Amino acid sequence: MTACGCDTQATKGLLTVDEALAQMLSQAVPLTESEALPLTSALGRVLAETITSPIDVPPHDNSAMDGYALHHEDSHAGENRLAISQRICAGEIGTPLQRGTVARIFTGAPIPPGADSVIMQEQITMAANEVVFQGAISAGENVRAKGEDITQGSKVLSQGRRLRPQELGLAASVGRATLSLYRRLKVGIFFTGDELIEPGTPLPEGKIYDSNRFVLTTLLQQMGCEVINLGIVEDSLAATMAALKSLTASIDLIMTTGGVSVGEEDHVRHAIEQLGQLSMWRVAMKPGKPLAFGHLDHTPFIGLPGNPVSVFVTFTLFAAPFIKKRQGMSRYHPQPLPMQAAFSWPKVKRQEYLRVRLEMVEGQRQLTRFPHQGSGVLTSISWADGLAKIPTGHAITPGECIDYYPFEQLL
Ligand code: AMP
Ligand code: MG
Repeated sequence: MTACGCDTQATKGLLTVDEALAQMLSQAVPLTESEALPLTSALGRVLAETITSPIDVPPHDNSAMDGYALHHEDSHAGENRLAISQRICAGEIGTPLQRGTVARIFTGAPIPPGADSVIMQEQITMAANEVVFQGAISAGENVRAKGEDITQGSKVLSQGRRLRPQELGLAASVGRATLSLYRRLKVGIFFTGDELIEPGTPLPEGKIYDSNRFVLTTLLQQMGCEVINLGIVEDSLAATMAALKSLTASIDLIMTTGGVSVGEEDHVRHAIEQLGQLSMWRVAMKPGKPLAFGHLDHTPFIGLPGNPVSVFVTFTLFAAPFIKKRQGMSRYHPQPLPMQAAFSWPKVKRQEYLRVRLEMVEGQRQLTRFPHQGSGVLTSISWADGLAKIPTGHAITPGECIDYYPFEQLL
């Protein structure tokens, strides 16, 4: 059954996107091997441990401002005059505050015992060695409390998180210099097609430049994978089988583009069938209907279609969650955001993924679509910032709410 509850002629015998993804994910075995690496090498990697904090952050009550620390009961309505009894810079520790006085204090410096608030330097005037200000200060004013960010013993980062710069900062803030990370996933790739030529050379008649190589390689690198690239492989069963065999047992995943359709020059499917097991190959979606998934011995294989847009779309929807799960990530399912469409789209026979942008239209954030949605139009994915899902059997009218998948969230 399709998403709309009808099994149309166009989707008969095809897996739905959800079924295909569920099948793939059921066979994505998370890595177990980890390595300890310094924070500087941890960007984009997946955490293999849960980090709890051995300290409070901040470790002491400290001043949020350059100003003067005092006990709030030493201030009152009207004019206040208080002598300066000490000076505390960031990184220093003051002495207990003599009541009825203030301590000159700078941002980040510990609040001395006996003080509970800080008056900003902009709010005072100086008269001899006294600060003069108007009105009562309340307890805790301009004070950052000990442990207000992180309390000692609390969980800071969970196992399975992919580390961004902000997570590295968080780990450093609790004193960690090295982290336990899942090892890199090693992905072997090649590109099928006798029409393919490397960029940088003149284009012979009948040929096209291989663009998939650069998209797939960098998508994998961006996800923190190690890439072994065999380059272009000619359209023959023998060459395809040789390329597959040369990707050794130490590879965690094999990926290809092209050659998974039903033409006589599509050899990838047959090669997998001869060397291993092919689990499935047709998905009720557009772009990207032909999608192969299988195993060669114990190494999983994902055969993406050839068309550049289909490569990108099927990578983000299927390969990316599969890779995330294998990398040890705890969150790997694509999470759509409901967004209003600013466009109309005719009823679709197969679930369709349009290249869209989130833009202000008539004062509201709405999805606009690239005019040309062909599966070979690479310009559309470069223009877009995400995909919009049109479920099988649905048409879209402007103003309707649809599922939007931002690219950065998919990867
Ligand atoms: P295929 O699935 O092999 O029939 O390829 C489908 C379409 O994608 C054809 O028009 C191919 O020329 C194109 N294509 C396949 N591989 C690539 C590639 N590496 N770069 C750019 N286009 C490609
Ligand atoms: Mg081909």
